[in-house]
Amino acid sequence: MSKKTPALVGFEQHNHGACLENALNSAEEYCTKNKIKLTPIRKKVLELLLQEHRALGAYAILAMLREQGFSNQPPVAYRALDFLVEHGFAHKIEKLNAFIACSLPGANHSPAFLICKKCNMVAETQSAPHNISFKETANSTGFQIEQTIIEAQGICQSCIETSHL
Ligand SMILES: [Zn+2]
Ligand SMILES: [Zn+2]
Ligand SMILES: [Zn+2]
Repeated sequence: MSKKTPALVGFEQHNHGACLENALNSAEEYCTKNKIKLTPIRKKVLELLLQEHRALGAYAILAMLREQGFSNQPPVAYRALDFLVEHGFAHKIEKLNAFIACSLPGANHSPAFLICKKCNMVAETQSAPHNISFKETANSTGFQIEQTIIEAQGICQSCIETSHL
């Protein structure tokens, strides 16, 4: 069996406590280094996104913030999400109109998402090598791609397994 890529963390069994802590620590480090502020609300939203490797809609996030005593004003949550997306701590999944914590924060990358239709679990990986030719084609027309995001929908292994029970 070939080794599974560690970037597919969302679908893997792993020490999630450590995974969450590492992600928060690296976000804090990144912010300190780049002199940007990880305000309590920004950190909280990131924490919520990291809690499960699942895409969350802005309204779900808002409801969680309210539960935890944060401001329940939509602009506050949206601004925090914008901040996280802008600095690469989170990505927006257009298909689900939802957000997910980045599993490769700080790295300039073209994410590819595997989205489970059944449980909304999202795994992040890098776009497949065949996209290099896509990039080359675009470049040859003088188009400069800034970011390519691939969203693949399907059914994750654990959902396939439970449907066979
Ligand atoms: Zn995890
Ligand atoms: Zn990412
Ligand atoms: Zn699933």
